[in-house]
Amino acid sequence: MQLWPFRKKQKKSSLVSWVTPYLAVGPAPMSHAHLQHLKQAGIDAILNLCAEFPDLPEIERRAGFDVYYLPVEDEETPDMETMDNALEWMDESIYLGKKVLVHCRHGIGRTGTLTAAYLLRKGLTSRKVNKLLNPLRSQPANYNQWSLLRQYGRLQGRLQIREPSLEQKNIVDLTPFFKDLEVLLNRVEINLEGRRLCGREHILCCSLDVRVSLVEAVYISHKINTVLTRESRQELIRKACGTNGTGEGDEPLECSLCPLNQNRKCSFFHHRPLACRLFDYSDLGSKEYADIMDQVGQLSRNLFLAFGGQFLQQDINFDLTRVISGKYVQDFFHILMQCAEGNNRISPEKEL
Ligand code: SF4
Repeated sequence: MQLWPFRKKQKKSSLVSWVTPYLAVGPAPMSHAHLQHLKQAGIDAILNLCAEFPDLPEIERRAGFDVYYLPVEDEETPDMETMDNALEWMDESIYLGKKVLVHCRHGIGRTGTLTAAYLLRKGLTSRKVNKLLNPLRSQPANYNQWSLLRQYGRLQGRLQIREPSLEQKNIVDLTPFFKDLEVLLNRVEINLEGRRLCGREHILCCSLDVRVSLVEAVYISHKINTVLTRESRQELIRKACGTNGTGEGDEPLECSLCPLNQNRKCSFFHHRPLACRLFDYSDLGSKEYADIMDQVGQLSRNLFLAFGGQFLQQDINFDLTRVISGKYVQDFFHILMQCAEGNNRISPEKEL
C-alpha cells in the first residue's frame, strides 16, 4: 500500500493532516479563514461529526463543500449502521476523486474513530491502521471508541483477493492535461470578455447536440464528480439518462435542453465546453480560433496516447449528454478496441 510520503513531516497542530492523498483529518473550522484554508488545501468534501455545532454543516455547504453530517456527541460513538452509511459516502467521494476531510471539534477521538473504521473497511489490518494514525492527533480516545472499532474490524473480515488499497490509482496523471486545457479555456474567456454568451445571455446552444473533444470529456466528467454534491450529481446523471430516477419503470423525462441547463441558465458555466463558449464566435480572430482548436486536438491526441498507448490519426468527439451520464466511457473503450484491432482511423459513420 502506498503511504502518503509527506505524512511524517506534518505538524501535529496542523489544520489539515493528510492520512492518504485523498483523506485528511483535522479540527472543526471555526472561522471563514479556516474554511478558506481548507479550500486552498484542496478539500472538496467534509464528514462533519460535531453534534455540538448543528449549524456548521450548512455553513460548510455554503462555503462550497460537499458535506455529510453525522452528529456524534463528544466522547461518544455512532451506531454501526449509521457509521457504515457515512463510510459508504466517504468511499464514494474518494472513488470519484474528491479529497475528504473528517473532523469533530478538536479532530481527535471521534475523528480518529471514524477514520480508523474507514481504513479497516478498506481492508487494512488494525496494525496498519495504528501505524497510519500514530503520527497524528486523530486517535480513538476512550474504551467505547476502541470497542466499536474492534467490533467493526471483526465484521469487515480480512478476505482480500489483492493488496488492500485506499484509493483508486489513476493510471494516467490527468493534472498536466487539465492544466493545459484550463490555460486554453482562460485564453478563450479573455477574448470573449464583454460579449453576449450562450448559457448566460441566451440558451441557443443548450438545445443543440453539443459535442466535446476527448480532453474536455474527461475534464467535464472530473468536474461533475468533484464539484457537485452527491445529490446534485445523481440528479444530473438521472437527467442525462432521461429518466425520473424512480427505478423500475422509469418514465423518460421530456427534456430537450442540455442536462446542465437549470432555470434557463448554464449551471456549469465556468466549466462549459468550448463549443458553448464559441457558439456565437467561431470567427473569433480566425487564426486565434484555429490555433485553439488545434491545441485542444493535440491535447486530446496526447491524452489518447497516454490512455491507450496508441496514436490516433483523427480527432474524436463525444456527445455532451453521454459525458454527463458517464456513458461516454463505453464509447471511449469502443474506440480503444477499434484501435487495438489495427483500425486507428474511426470511420465517420461510427463517429460517437
Ligand atoms: S454546457 Fe451549459 S451552455 Fe453548454 S449546452 Fe449545456 S447548459 Fe448550455
